[in-house]
Amino acid sequence: MSVASPPNPSLALQSKRWNGLRHVLEREGLFCKDDFTPSPDNLEFLQTKCKVLIIGAGGLGCELLKDLALMGFGDLHVIDMDIIELSNLNRQFLFRRTDIGASKAECAARFINNRVPTCKVTPHFCKIQDFDESFYQKFHIIVCGLDSIVARRWINGMLLSMLRYEEDNSIDVASIIPMIDGGTEGFKGNARVILPGFTACIECTLDLFPPQVNYPLCTIANTPRLPEHCVEYVKLIQWDKESPFGAPLDGDDPQHIAWIYERAQERANQFNISGITYRLVQGVIKHIIPAVASTNAVIAAACAMEVFKLATSCYDSMANYFNFNDLDGIYSYTYEAEKSDSCLACSNAPQLLTIEDPNTTTLEDVIKELCELPRFQLKSPALTTVMADGKQRTLYLASVKSIEEATRKNLTQSLGELGLQDGQQLTITDVTSPTAITIQLKYQANEIEMS
Ligand SMILES: [Zn+2]
Repeated sequence: MSVASPPNPSLALQSKRWNGLRHVLEREGLFCKDDFTPSPDNLEFLQTKCKVLIIGAGGLGCELLKDLALMGFGDLHVIDMDIIELSNLNRQFLFRRTDIGASKAECAARFINNRVPTCKVTPHFCKIQDFDESFYQKFHIIVCGLDSIVARRWINGMLLSMLRYEEDNSIDVASIIPMIDGGTEGFKGNARVILPGFTACIECTLDLFPPQVNYPLCTIANTPRLPEHCVEYVKLIQWDKESPFGAPLDGDDPQHIAWIYERAQERANQFNISGITYRLVQGVIKHIIPAVASTNAVIAAACAMEVFKLATSCYDSMANYFNFNDLDGIYSYTYEAEKSDSCLACSNAPQLLTIEDPNTTTLEDVIKELCELPRFQLKSPALTTVMADGKQRTLYLASVKSIEEATRKNLTQSLGELGLQDGQQLTITDVTSPTAITIQLKYQANEIEMS
């Protein structure tokens, strides 16, 4: 049987296979949305017109592709920049041993296209940042199965930047592309519905993501208490000192992991710390979050259901944040995350950064705040501003070597010394957002000592 041919709409529509969906889409029901019109058109839209983008073809992505394809969606796209590794195979069930080393997006698409003749999956083996607005605009709905918070924030920013406004400043609803976001970590998971501009976005609830754990170097070096401290010590200090393989540390090389495991064990013995295991070493080195197939299945199913509701508008979307935990029995609840008035991404309000004393606060302190404050959590911000004389000035930029060197001296200067005024606006770019953000300095102490 030919498998590469596009889905055949008549085959799709006639099949008895969709009788279950017809009951939902062609009949009235008590819980239907007010503006829902039962009609065969609903199923036809799902199968022939609705374009859905799935971001990520990993644990959640495989589940999402399978769920949506079997639910009758005919036009799916999937983006993933990763290749398949052996350790993926226990849960990323669209992949086989012979696929190791190949693109996740391409293999997943091929599998679904072979298996579900009514669905055509188009793979994109690249990063989400490789595409611009014109690509994302093509989709009716975007669903994310990501493990990266930076990528989530980036796509969230992209969808917000694509909103168009009417003359009275209200959002043109035609410019809204709903985003369904699923996430899992071990036995915990969540699914949420984001209508950009209307409901809470990723940045509105950024403080729900705990900042990445970084152990202080002094603890690691002098007073280790946890097995993780010992692993970090070997990774950060001993590896460079002893250079055991004459190569940079490779978290995928079992010999490297084994070397770190032995050294970390020795250090743990010295400090009477227990709990060093090979898996823990791997986890710390590669920042692995353990993945549980059943959690992925539940969360992907919840996300697929929301995609279905939005695509057919048969029922109201979930409002708007579903939490799930199957660590000890099963526990779940749904609540409505609120849109934040001061959200970095979706409010038009200027973001105030309160500075206690501009004469003692250095630019480096400001950058540190931007990285550490729960509401910002930036990664490597680049800062520019417009000075009083109207000239654009780059205060700090780390990504270009020559500019970094030229602006490094600013880091140790105080805001007063840099000539930054109370109320001054800083334009900030960062990997967490496709667009620049503006931050306004607010001084507590008004007097600036000009030196
Ligand atoms: Zn927001």
